[in-house]
Parts: sequence; C-alpha cells; structure tokens
Amino acid sequence: MKGQDDYVDLDSFIARFGDELKVEGDKYESRLAICKECEHLVSGTCLKCGCYVELRAALKKNHCPNTPKKW
Ligand code: SF4
Repeated sequence: MKGQDDYVDLDSFIARFGDELKVEGDKYESRLAICKECEHLVSGTCLKCGCYVELRAALKKNHCPNTPKKW
C-alpha cells in the first residue's frame, strides 16, 4: 500500500512534458470544463478510459474516448 508521498502530483507530472506536446491553456480549460459536466467523470477519472482527465486533456495527441467525442 502506498503512502501519501507516493501519490503523483498531476500538475508536476504534466509540467514535465514539453510545450510542443501540450495543448494551449485555453484549450486545456475548455476540455476540462466539458469533462466537469460529463456523466462519465468520477473523482477526476474518466470511466470511459480510466485516465485522470487532467492528464488526458493536457496532451495534444489525446481526445475524449466517448463516442461521439466530446472534445
Ligand atoms: S474524457 Fe470525455 S468521456 Fe471522459 S470524462 Fe471527459 S468528456 Fe467525459
């Protein structure tokens, strides 16, 4: 069982990706706003893919796994 210090700080993790891999701030916020209203979001996790949406939404290559895509 992991201790509190072992949990990933998502902001720090996302910050390690190069800017060329990440979406612009406005796009990131708009993606998260959509997730925030989504019925598949539970405790920051997308039940469609099992990802933390803050991480999934940060990367250009990613898209919403829903059919149809919400972002
Ligand atoms: S990634 Fe898509 S399906 Fe998952 S919570 Fe966000 S909007 Fe919903």
